[in-house]
Amino acid sequence: MRQRLSSEPDRYRGRRRVPTPPRSRYAAVVTTAFVGAGVVALGAGAMPDAKSVNPSVLDELKAASTLSQDAAARADSAERASRDSGREEAAEPEVWLLPLQGYDFKSPYGMRWGKLHTGVDLVAPEGTPYVAIHDGTVTKAGWWGGYGYTVIVQHADGSEAIYGHSSALSVQEGQQVKAGDQLGLVGNTGHSYGSHLHLEIHVKGEPQDPVPYLQDRGVDIQLQVEAIYNEVAAS
Ligand SMILES: [Zn+2]
Repeated sequence: MRQRLSSEPDRYRGRRRVPTPPRSRYAAVVTTAFVGAGVVALGAGAMPDAKSVNPSVLDELKAASTLSQDAAARADSAERASRDSGREEAAEPEVWLLPLQGYDFKSPYGMRWGKLHTGVDLVAPEGTPYVAIHDGTVTKAGWWGGYGYTVIVQHADGSEAIYGHSSALSVQEGQQVKAGDQLGLVGNTGHSYGSHLHLEIHVKGEPQDPVPYLQDRGVDIQLQVEAIYNEVAAS
């Protein structure tokens, strides 16, 4: 959805459209599946009855199929190797996600009411589940002063995501989470002006503007917001 929106910027100006499935690709996959099944069926039909065949022929067939499996495995690992070349290590691709699927982008990072607002505010109804934007370890899950009920997740590179003002928490300190795992429910606890998720990103202990930070990781938190805002505005 992200890709569709960013590659077709005019799409989100009006009412947001229901994503249409990529029909041509779907058709191609179906065709391939049928062709594949056909080949298998043909192969089985073309195979003479085992009882009437010299066992050595069967052994040859078996050997041939093992060979082709080996070749396939080799091709596969070669492909993997070429994919991984240029990377320091063969790590899993990093996943970054939006913490919520529907929200109103209320307050950006920057000066607000005479002081720095160190995160972004994503307005959503109280009780809306929010998820981890990235894998990591829960280093805080509890009351945290003005942030109210808060979850802090430390990522592998040492950066942290702080999720504030929750009405309830779904994780415990020390827990490992994956991107997309539910961390808690949106709320209005601590110094909060209404139900919203305050999302803050710290790098080396210093707050960063989450918008460009997440954009660099393929998550366009503002684009998503505009799409939803315009949908509301158009209805
Ligand atoms: Zn905030």
